[in-house]
Amino acid sequence: MRNLTRAVKIGSVTIGNNNPIAVQTMASTRTNNTKELIEQIKTFENVGADIVRIAIDSKTDVESLKKIRDNTRMNLAVDIQENYRLIEPIAKIVDKVRYNPGHLWHHEPEKSWQDKVKFIAETAGKNNCALRVGINCGSVDPDLMKKYNQDSTSAMLENAFDHCSLLDRIGFTSYCVSLKDSDPNTVVELNVKFSEQRPDVPLHLGVTEAGLPNYGIIKTRIAFEQLISRGIGDTIRVSLTLPSDRKYEEIIVGKRILEDIINKRVIGNVRYDKDGLNLISCPSCSRVENEKFIELTGEVEKLTRYANDLIKGYAVTIAIMGCRVNGPGETMNADLGLWCGPRNVNLMRASRRIGAYSYDTILPVLKIELDKIISEKR
Ligand code: SF4
Repeated sequence: MRNLTRAVKIGSVTIGNNNPIAVQTMASTRTNNTKELIEQIKTFENVGADIVRIAIDSKTDVESLKKIRDNTRMNLAVDIQENYRLIEPIAKIVDKVRYNPGHLWHHEPEKSWQDKVKFIAETAGKNNCALRVGINCGSVDPDLMKKYNQDSTSAMLENAFDHCSLLDRIGFTSYCVSLKDSDPNTVVELNVKFSEQRPDVPLHLGVTEAGLPNYGIIKTRIAFEQLISRGIGDTIRVSLTLPSDRKYEEIIVGKRILEDIINKRVIGNVRYDKDGLNLISCPSCSRVENEKFIELTGEVEKLTRYANDLIKGYAVTIAIMGCRVNGPGETMNADLGLWCGPRNVNLMRASRRIGAYSYDTILPVLKIELDKIISEKR
C-alpha cells in the first residue's frame, strides 16, 4: 500500500497519488555543450527515463536549455544553486526546479530565506513549474546544524518541515521533497520520519554520493527496499559514479530495483554495516571539472582495497567529489576527502586541507594519509 501523497505534475509525468514511481537521472555532460547533452538525454529516453535533471550555474546555460527543450521529448528538471533568481528565466522552459535550502543563505545574505522561497514559489507558480525542496547531508543549513549540535538528521528534518510549511502558507502545493544522505540507514530514517509527519508530500528518494556501481547499487537498494516496501517514495534517482556514456545505466538500475521490489526479490531488512572502509563518490553532473574524476575514483577504489582487512571494528570514510561547487562542503565529514578541480585534486583530512596534487600524483599521497589514519585508529 503506497502513501497517498498529493499529485504533482512534472511535464507529462505525474508523481504522487498512487501514480507509478517515476525514474529519473541527471545529465553529466557540460550544460553549454548542447550537442553532447542532447545526445546524452536521448540515451536516457531510449531506456525509458521519466525525467532528466540538469545543473545550471549561469544565465548562459539558459540558452542551452531552450535548445534541449526543442530537441528532446524528455521532462526536464533543473538544479539551481546559490543564485535562486536563476529560476526566473528557466521556469518557463522546464517542468521542475530543484532548490537546495542549504544553499539559499549564500546569495543576497541580507534577504531572509523566506523571501527567497516566496520569490521561487511565485515564479514557479506563474509558469506551471513544479518544485523540489532538495535537502542534502553535505549542505545543511548552518544555523540548524548549530541549533542541533551538528546532528544533521534533526537539522535536515526541521529544514524540510519549515520549507513545506512556508510553501503551504504561500499556497504553492506543486512540490516534492528529498532528504538525501550517503548512508542508506540515514536515508531510511530521514524519509520515514518525514513521511510520518507529512504523509501528503510526495518524496523523491535517493542515496547521495552512493559511489561506483559495485557500492552504489547495494547502498541504494537497501534504502529503496525499506522505504518503498513501507509505501514511501514517489520518484527515485539512483546516483552512481559513471562516465557520461554509461550514465543511462542509472535508469536501468532504478527500474530493476523497482521491479524486484514489486516481485519481492529483495535483500530483506538489512542494516548497512558502517564498519570498515566506506568509499563515497558523487555521481557527477554537468559541473564536473575534469572527466578524469571518474577514472580517479576507480583508481582510489583499487588502491584502498588493502585497507579493508586492516580496518575492523571502526569506520574510515573516503569521499571523492567532482567539482568545487559541492566538493569542499561534501568532503568535510569524511576522514579523507578529494575534491577535483580542472587540473588538481584537493586533498582534505576532514576540514583541514592537506594540499592540491595533480591527477597523476595524488594517489601515493592519499595512501600515506590513509596509512596514518589506520595506525592512529588502531
Ligand atoms: S559534487 Fe559537483 S560534480 Fe559531483 S554531482 Fe555534486 S555538483 Fe555535480
